Amino acid sequence: MKQIHVVHIYPDEMNTYGDRGNLLTLVKRTEWYGFEPVVHYYHVGEPFPKDADIVLGGGGQDSAQDDIQHDVLRIGDRIHKLVDAEVPMLLICGTYQLFGTRFVTHTGQEIQGIGVFDSETIGDNKRLIGNVAVSCTDFGTLYGFENHSGRTILLNDQAPLGKIIRGNGNNGTDNTEGARTRNALGTYMHGPLLPANPQLADGLLTLALRRHGVEVTLTGLDDTLAAQVRKSAATRDY
Ligand code: GLN
Repeated sequence: MKQIHVVHIYPDEMNTYGDRGNLLTLVKRTEWYGFEPVVHYYHVGEPFPKDADIVLGGGGQDSAQDDIQHDVLRIGDRIHKLVDAEVPMLLICGTYQLFGTRFVTHTGQEIQGIGVFDSETIGDNKRLIGNVAVSCTDFGTLYGFENHSGRTILLNDQAPLGKIIRGNGNNGTDNTEGARTRNALGTYMHGPLLPANPQLADGLLTLALRRHGVEVTLTGLDDTLAAQVRKSAATRDY
């Protein structure tokens, strides 16, 4: 398998705090490892791409979430099938909220989600803003930046993405950050996340390749700059 199809959902509406950098990181690392990235931009109303090896979604304003909510419900069955097929996904903030069961904005508007994550989010007038560090069993320590009004509660036995080391994460009270269902990862971490956490980018690529029977250890790239960022993030004041 040479090609890796990356589907970036709602790139116009859901792309705050440089979340597009996650796509650029995946594309470049895919190339540097000798594979061919094929990027599909998925927009409201379009047919969902046939080939999807990795799905990416960014953060967005409450109003942008309102704009796309009906379309998210429309593609919900397809997304669930991809999740069941172990397709890796990275869903940031606003998209993460819409992959839960519902988001009630701080003005009381209810936006339905598709329930990939058994979670619900309630908006609050006080936003949770700042740098975040998270301990994650499969992907090591993750560093990012959060800015959200929503407080997300994980329901029943929904697994988090990781445990908060610093920052607020899902709700600022229970020390959880994000959610994981199979290989679908939801998180509040912008940054963008992947440039500062190349091990997560490689983790997503590894999972995508594994689904095609390609077992590789992705290593050998020069991540000096990312290492400096991580060192600074680990020691800065929060
Ligand atoms: N509008 C959502 C909130 O404030 C998501 C924000 C974001 O994606 N950064 O909770």
